Amino acid sequence: MKLCIILFLTMSLCAWSQHAEKRKEITYKVHSHNDYQQGFPFWNAYINGAASIEVDIFLKKDSLYVAHGEHEIIKGNTLEKLYLDTLQRLSASNDLRELQLLVDIKSEAYTTLDKLIEVLENYPVLQKSGKIHFVISGNRPKPGDYTNYPDFIRFDHQDLSNLNTIPLEKVALVSLDFKRYSVWNGYGRLVESEWEAVKRIVKKVHSFNKPFRFWATSDTKTAWARLAQLGVDFINTDKPERAVPFLNQMEGNTHRQEAPIATYLPEYDYPKEAQPKNVILMIGDGNGLAQITASLIANHGQLTVMGIKDIGLVKTAAYDDLITDSAAGATAMATGSKTDNRAIGVGPNGERLQNLVELTSEKGFNTGIVTTDAIYGATPAAFYAHRKERDDSRGILEDLISSELDLFIAGGRSKEVILQKNFKIVELEQLTDLEQPVAIFLGENKTPPPNQDDSYPLSKSVQHALKVLDKKKEPFFLVIEGAKIDSGGHANDIEKIIGEMLDFDQAIAEALRYADTSENTLVVVTADHETSGLGIIAGDIQGGTVQVDFLTVDHTGIPVPLFAYGPQAHTFGGSYENTEIFEKIIGVLFHEE
Ligand SMILES: [Zn+2]
Repeated sequence: MKLCIILFLTMSLCAWSQHAEKRKEITYKVHSHNDYQQGFPFWNAYINGAASIEVDIFLKKDSLYVAHGEHEIIKGNTLEKLYLDTLQRLSASNDLRELQLLVDIKSEAYTTLDKLIEVLENYPVLQKSGKIHFVISGNRPKPGDYTNYPDFIRFDHQDLSNLNTIPLEKVALVSLDFKRYSVWNGYGRLVESEWEAVKRIVKKVHSFNKPFRFWATSDTKTAWARLAQLGVDFINTDKPERAVPFLNQMEGNTHRQEAPIATYLPEYDYPKEAQPKNVILMIGDGNGLAQITASLIANHGQLTVMGIKDIGLVKTAAYDDLITDSAAGATAMATGSKTDNRAIGVGPNGERLQNLVELTSEKGFNTGIVTTDAIYGATPAAFYAHRKERDDSRGILEDLISSELDLFIAGGRSKEVILQKNFKIVELEQLTDLEQPVAIFLGENKTPPPNQDDSYPLSKSVQHALKVLDKKKEPFFLVIEGAKIDSGGHANDIEKIIGEMLDFDQAIAEALRYADTSENTLVVVTADHETSGLGIIAGDIQGGTVQVDFLTVDHTGIPVPLFAYGPQAHTFGGSYENTEIFEKIIGVLFHEE
């Protein structure tokens, strides 16, 4: 057991410090309330990074028991055994970190405190380490007597009225009963008057340069967040293992967009029943409803995609798994068939499936792919390749060389040499015509992130692609992928999710603008799956602030939205499988009048 605890401790400390290194969050102080009632008293709070631990003590027969009252005393559960010996061992092995030990005296104040000081005489290392702050709470001596105790003993003062008359140097913090100021249940937010009252209290305590704690607060994520935002220094909880990571990630999980990016409002004057000539299929990889909504809030309530009125709900399961990957998800849309995860353009038995690029090429369409992923990434590959394994990039590139694709703009420059045989490789600005298949590389692997010096907005690539496709005066099928919304999801990085989503939204604006000038272009915007189980837990549309939380670092099984604009857009309404996107595109393009 001991070994387990040490291993657990080492692993947790590693995970803790790695995480702290990855993101520079504000660290809030968590107070482990009634710590002795935890399954692992002390350890649970300590390894999870609580800054303060509460120990109730009761003096009986000259021993200090860890208990709330006399009736709860368990033989052997002394303060020494449950806490002080452990702290001393940690100190001996140089593993002791700074910690406030809030000793909550449940028996008579003066005799119990005298006994505590007597006991602590046996732990000179803890007294002198400077790392353990012994703070007396519960039954305390009168403030006038605070100075009668040794330097290493300070107090948890619980009265606001006499802060200017007591010996403040003996006060470690000020604590009050939350229930005296608010009836809030920890959901939603405090009513305005209570919010203001709490702010006034915190401000008053801070004006005396003392940290502040409430007890009897609700133990929810919302409560921890609100109290932290109100400036409460020690957040009271019975769940330190959840509160510490939640609070430490709170800043990182909050995105603020200073100024909104411009959005485009589509004109809606296309002939609704006409047959579209061109189709633009736009796939936001991992772009679920929460990703879209978080970006909408961050962009101060405006998003181009939200201006599209014809909406569907797409079920994304793979053939062999409820949770799809991008390979099976894109294959479903590209070929109309469900397949196993990892498969590209082939069925569960390896059978070759005809895709939209091949089908539309046969009918004389020009075809193109614009993506922020490498061209051999799973999503773009499903539109030209037929391979059982998405990581078979050599095979995928062979398929690309022999494909019908007329144009791609993507990352993956490292494979440029292989593709020179069949594609004319140019720079984006040099793209003037499609007299022969053209390839444009915008990055070694994936394209650089938006707002970086060497980055190209996806909208710019889309603009160039549409310019040359339009010039041909022939029908076209264009796939556009915002690939890295998914990467942001896998990394649980809300800034990246929103940055990539807004980049994708500007590309959507470009496609809609084109549809409005051409009047015979159908634009379909959807996702292959949701990534990260993103949830929106707080925010402010006016300020462009959104706070999120994540369920996983993987894809999830929730349906994704589909937005359709242009002739026949209404046929995309309803709830259906991802394979129907293929059926519907074929239906609107090739149905006989
Ligand atoms: Zn993914």
